[in-house]
Amino acid sequence: MPSYLDQKFGLHGKVALVTGSSKGLGRAMALALARAGADVIVNGRDPTSLNAVVAELSSIGIRAHAIAADLGQRVDVERLLAEAIAWQGHLDILVNNAGIIRRTPAAEHSDADWDAVLSVNLDGVFTACRAAGRHMLARGSGKIVNIASLLTFFGGITVPGYAASKGAVGQLTRALSNEWAGRGVNVNAIAPGYMRTDNTAALQADPVRSKEILSRIPANRWGEPGDLEGAVVFLASGASDYLSGHILAVDGGWCGR
Ligand code: NAP
Repeated sequence: MPSYLDQKFGLHGKVALVTGSSKGLGRAMALALARAGADVIVNGRDPTSLNAVVAELSSIGIRAHAIAADLGQRVDVERLLAEAIAWQGHLDILVNNAGIIRRTPAAEHSDADWDAVLSVNLDGVFTACRAAGRHMLARGSGKIVNIASLLTFFGGITVPGYAASKGAVGQLTRALSNEWAGRGVNVNAIAPGYMRTDNTAALQADPVRSKEILSRIPANRWGEPGDLEGAVVFLASGASDYLSGHILAVDGGWCGR
């Protein structure tokens, strides 16, 4: 008889796709879902780093599969979802994590930077949600977790494309939830706070900004990738079946300040 925790939070028999999971937050969330019992598909653009994650997961007995695809290319996103569903014939969990950031003041922000950020962080997320949603709606069940940001709520500094894309991810999460929550598909988002990954390397390296940021975090530390483990397993599991359209900040208390 499975334990209470296994019944509520266990992911045995589920297949999860985490986009952008060769490193950083995506890698940590893929590992967490796998440890909770899911078979996982990892994604990124670089096959070598993806194969390293699959080898690591396989070495601890986890069934894992790599699919290289560029979330900035709609055709590639469609292929990724088709291959992910075909791997075991079903896809139960989609974590839309792949995301990029370009830091330049708004007046100098180039079309290329704007387009690159919007195409990965917003177009890619919608295309993946639509493809996964069609599959999940037909089965009457599924969990979609979009990775938002504190810049879903705040405007940020010198990252206008990123802030616009993450604000839109919040609204997309609510829009999809409104259509799909009654049909067995939960759509929620996680808004990570300031986390130590390559995405925030420039902020970590800037002594002034890094000190400003730290002084505003009630938990008194930057987040680590592992800090998202509990939230992603919760939102991917049956424990969150009545939660939909929610944006869960995992931010050391930042939003409360
Ligand atoms: P990261 O360390 O830079 O990792 C990004 C991951 O996404 C990598 O696996 C990267 O692999 C992949 N990726 C990038 N562009 C891609 C593309 N076009 N197609 C497919 N995969 C792509 O970033 P992170 O900090 O873990 O961020 C992950 C997510 O959390 C992002 O959506 C980010 O906006 C969000 N977030 C981060 C923070 C933070 O403080 N770190 C805070 C709030 C939100 P390849 O380069 O090999 O493709």
